[in-house]
Amino acid sequence: MPQFSVPTRRKMLAAAAFTAFAATVMRRSHATNQPQAAEDKDAHPWIDAHSHIWCTDLTKYPLRDNQTVDALEPHSFTDEELMAIAMPQGVGRVVLIQHYPHHGYDNSYLIDTRKKHPDRFRIVGQIDSARPHVDRLMRDMLQTGVTGFRIGPRDDQPDWLAGDGMKLMWKTAAETRQSMCCLIGPSNIAETAEWCVKYPDTPVVIDHFARIGGDGTIRDKDVQNLCNLAAHKLVRIKISAYYAFGKKQPPYLDLVPMIKRLFDAFGPDRLMWASDCHQLIRGTTVTQSQIAATVAACLGHDYQTAVPRAAAR
Ligand SMILES: [Zn+2]
Repeated sequence: MPQFSVPTRRKMLAAAAFTAFAATVMRRSHATNQPQAAEDKDAHPWIDAHSHIWCTDLTKYPLRDNQTVDALEPHSFTDEELMAIAMPQGVGRVVLIQHYPHHGYDNSYLIDTRKKHPDRFRIVGQIDSARPHVDRLMRDMLQTGVTGFRIGPRDDQPDWLAGDGMKLMWKTAAETRQSMCCLIGPSNIAETAEWCVKYPDTPVVIDHFARIGGDGTIRDKDVQNLCNLAAHKLVRIKISAYYAFGKKQPPYLDLVPMIKRLFDAFGPDRLMWASDCHQLIRGTTVTQSQIAATVAACLGHDYQTAVPRAAAR
C-alpha cells in the first residue's frame, strides 16, 4: 500500500482504515505467540483482511467433492506465493479466509499455515453449524488462530440463519470474540441487522460491501441499508473485491461514493481493506497498486497524486 510522508489528518484517517484490522481480528494474538518484530511492522505495516490460499498437495489437503487440481485457479497459491505479492506492497499480515468451494469445512491447510507463521496470519474458518457441539469446536479452533467464521447463504444452503447451531454460533462468538463474517448480498442486510439486535455483543464483519453492485448497479437504498448497520457497534465492513462491483473496471472509481458514505457512517476503525488477492492475479490487468490507489482516492487522497506514488512502489 502507498505510504505518504506528510501526515495530514486525511492521510492519518486513511492509514487508520488500512490498519483497522489490527484492532479487530489480529489483536487476538495468543499468549504463546511472540510479538512481531517492530522493524517488520515498520516495513510491512498493512494488514490484508481477506485472502485465500491453497496448495497442490491434494493428498494432504484434498479438495471438496473430489475436485482435481484443475479446479484451482491460479493453480497454486500458497502462503509463500501470497506473501511474495503482499510484502512488496507493505502488507505484512493477512487474514486467511477459508475457501468453501475448494476446501469445504476442512480448515486444515489454513490452520497448518498459521502454525508456521503465527504472527503473520489469522484465520476466518468455516464450519457446519448443524454439527453437534459447535460451541466447543469454535473454542477449540480459537486456539489454532481461528478468530472468525465465514457464514452466509449458499446455493446449497440458502436459509443461512436457520437452525439452533447458527444461534449457538452467534451466542458463543459473543463470548469468544470470534467474528461472524457474513458473505451476504444486499437482500440479506435486513436479516443481518435483526441478528445484530438479538446478539449485540457478537462481533460481525460484512464481506465485500455486502456485494452491493454485483449486478452492475450500486443502488442508493442498498448503500443506505449497509450504512445503517453502523448503529450496531460491533459491525465492521470489508471494503474489498472491487473487481466484482459496479462497472468492474479498474481503477474502480465508481465505487468511491459508496466508500465515502461507508467512511462517514462507520469511520476508519470499522472499515477494513482487503485484497482477495488470488482474484487480482488470475488473468486480469488489475494490480495491487491500482487497488491501493483506488482506496487512497476513496479515503480522501488526490487520485492523480496517489496513482504514480502507488505505481512506484
Ligand atoms: Zn474471497
